[in-house]
Amino acid sequence: MSEMLRKEAHVPEASKPGDKVKKSGIYSVRHHGPHASNHDVTCVAGKPFPACDECGENVRFVIVRTAPHVGNHAHFKGSRSNH
Ligand SMILES: [Zn+2]
Repeated sequence: MSEMLRKEAHVPEASKPGDKVKKSGIYSVRHHGPHASNHDVTCVAGKPFPACDECGENVRFVIVRTAPHVGNHAHFKGSRSNH
């Protein structure tokens, strides 16, 4: 048996319900079982990933594309004094 050591970088980083969202962006949702196809959602950093109404804790979220929340972007902070 030949055991090729593959880089784990090829394994998509999947998050589960209750995990805190590390990066805002588009996530591909992988439901457990046939009740729903994969679909994309936007998740905001700092909030926990939600459980699915159907497959509960078995749903997984895989990052597709990060995109900073507009409120966290340097050009939209808006916290400088004279507004
Ligand atoms: Zn589901």
